[in-house]
Amino acid sequence: MEKILNYINGEWLAPAVSDYVDVINPATGEVVARTPLSPASVIEAAAQAAADALPAWRRKPVNERVQYLFKLRDLLKANNDEIARTITNECGKTFEEAKAEMVRAIENVEVACGMPMMSKGDIAEDIATGIDELMIRQPVGVCATIAPFNFPGMIPFWYLPYALAAGNTYIIKPSEKVPMTMQLIFKLIEQVGFPKGVVNMVNGSKEAVDAILDHPVIRAITFVGSSNVAKYVYSRAAANGKRVQAQGGAKNPVVVLPDADMDMAVNIIADSAFGCAGQRCLAVSWAVTVGEARNYFNEAICDVAASRKVGYGLDSGVQMGAVINQASVQRIEQLIGLGASEGASVPVDGRGTVIPGYEKGSFVRPTILMDMQPGSEIWKTEIFGPVLGVMHVDSIDEAIALANSQAYGNQASLFTSSGAAARKFRYEVEAGNIGINIGVAAPMAFFPFSGWKESFYGDMHGQGMDAVEFFTQKKVVVERWPKEWTRKF
Ligand code: NAD
Repeated sequence: MEKILNYINGEWLAPAVSDYVDVINPATGEVVARTPLSPASVIEAAAQAAADALPAWRRKPVNERVQYLFKLRDLLKANNDEIARTITNECGKTFEEAKAEMVRAIENVEVACGMPMMSKGDIAEDIATGIDELMIRQPVGVCATIAPFNFPGMIPFWYLPYALAAGNTYIIKPSEKVPMTMQLIFKLIEQVGFPKGVVNMVNGSKEAVDAILDHPVIRAITFVGSSNVAKYVYSRAAANGKRVQAQGGAKNPVVVLPDADMDMAVNIIADSAFGCAGQRCLAVSWAVTVGEARNYFNEAICDVAASRKVGYGLDSGVQMGAVINQASVQRIEQLIGLGASEGASVPVDGRGTVIPGYEKGSFVRPTILMDMQPGSEIWKTEIFGPVLGVMHVDSIDEAIALANSQAYGNQASLFTSSGAAARKFRYEVEAGNIGINIGVAAPMAFFPFSGWKESFYGDMHGQGMDAVEFFTQKKVVVERWPKEWTRKF
């Protein structure tokens, strides 16, 4: 069993704790590690280390700081398969999905290597005669990230490389359910040779999070997780005067128009709904057919859902892995039952899934809730599992109104061959990520990972220029240099 440690001030440390969370391989049910639940004193040590490292790190020229990231990028690439195997073994997704996750992590390191260009300021000469105005960007200070379980390798990289390149020092708290991936990545971070205290990792759950939210030295916090915790993190950190962004949950709609390429729509929607066992914040969760689209779509989506090969993500040919744990299986199965009690039929039912050879695994096969009712509890509730609700309306206006009446706003997709319909959808729909003939509209590293409504609390997002904005604070300087003073030079 792997021992999970914290990494503080360049050292691997075992916190003195009696509370642990078991880390379970979701496919085999085997306990593969135990996460120590660090108390507030450990956050204190990490914050102190990061604060001590800050003055020298921020004084290092930005082009020197990014050299560490170039090295990290090469190490991530060289160790990609081992990282992906670790992700599969603690998170449940397939090896290919885990490798794809790390592609986006590495892209973010590459984009952050452009920090010399991205963080430079502005100058305007002679805003009045002999007076110049400058805007410079400085680091915010000690920053921290609180991560969820579903992308243990990628999500911290929406933030970490930008925070470091911009001259901040940094603490990450991985999800207690999946600590092994970050532990492996921190072994690479150790090889990179960052100065002590520049980048730290603390394992834990609520007590560690609360200590981060309250610690006066920590100036900026990013969070990704469920909406109720996002809202809590946002409020508490903001009340403490911190800069904060908190990504929350989702319930993403996809609208299918009759003029869509139906085969393409069905396959892409199935990949979105069932990929990563539905545990993606950009997974489509409900499909709305418009007009005649349902004639083909309903049967075809059931066929594709029923034919997915489900199993251990490291076995070849497996298209969908396990969900995170048994509690998640129970929650998803209960929600399928709720959908049925609220009037949906279940033509493809993943409840009670047992995979031969992996009887202790946490599996739910793809499930279709046909004719899910608008306004029902199941229509409002994030399932975070491989379940696709299907609904029907008569017009694109009704479909957009339905999408916009939901609390979440992470992603909305449309399948159509009409440019005018696509334009209307893009214009009117209230969500931060839009897919046109795309099922998972995941922004590249040089675009912000957006999110609206109950899916996001804050202002600037992760990745790209938003991350540069978030991890820098602007300083505006107005200088007067009278002509008579400069004349002598
Ligand atoms: P979660 O909210 O349970 O946990 C996220 C983090 O918060 C973890 O590090 C956990 O230790 C901490 N935490 C949990 N409960 C807490 C509490 N009461 N007080 C303080 N800290 C607490 O989320 P999860 O189950 O790990 O991840 C799944 C959720 O994340 C889904 O809702 C999914 O939609 C969302 N998600 C959103 C995005 C996005 O970009 N919007 C991306 C990935 C995941």
